[in-house]
Amino acid sequence: MSAEQPLIADLFEVDKRLTLKPVVDFNTYLRNVFGDGPCRCHRCLEGNADESGYNHRHSFALDGRTLHRRFANSAASDVLQYLKKAWLSYAKNELITVGTLDLDTVKAFTDSELHPRLLALLAASGLARESEGQWQLQVLAD
Ligand SMILES: [Zn+2]
Repeated sequence: MSAEQPLIADLFEVDKRLTLKPVVDFNTYLRNVFGDGPCRCHRCLEGNADESGYNHRHSFALDGRTLHRRFANSAASDVLQYLKKAWLSYAKNELITVGTLDLDTVKAFTDSELHPRLLALLAASGLARESEGQWQLQVLAD
C-alpha cells in the first residue's frame, strides 16, 4: 500500500460524481432527446416550418446543425424527472422545483458540449424560462 493512494483518490473525488448513473443518464438523455434535421411534425409541415406562432420551439440550430426535439420524451415532466434524479445524486439534496433554477449546479454535472442542448431543452419543454439572466422554473401541474 502506498501513502500516495488517498491523495490520488482525493483528486478524483469531484469527477467521481459525474460517473453516478443518474448523472450519466441525464447527459445521455440530453444527447438523445434531439433528432437530426428539422421537425417534421404535422404542424411544422403544414406551416412550412414557420415557428413564429409557437410558444415552444420544435427545431434548433445546435452543434452547427439543425436538430429537432423528440416529442415522445421531451415534455417538461420528462426533463424534470431526469434532472431531479441527476441533481439528487450530484448535489445530495432535492432539487427545489419552484423559483430560480441554480443553473451553475446543473451545468456542473452536464457535459459542457451539451450546455446548448440543456438551455434549448429547458426552454422548449416549458420547464424553465429565462428572465433577466435567471432561469425560472415553471410550476408544473401534475
Ligand atoms: Zn414541429
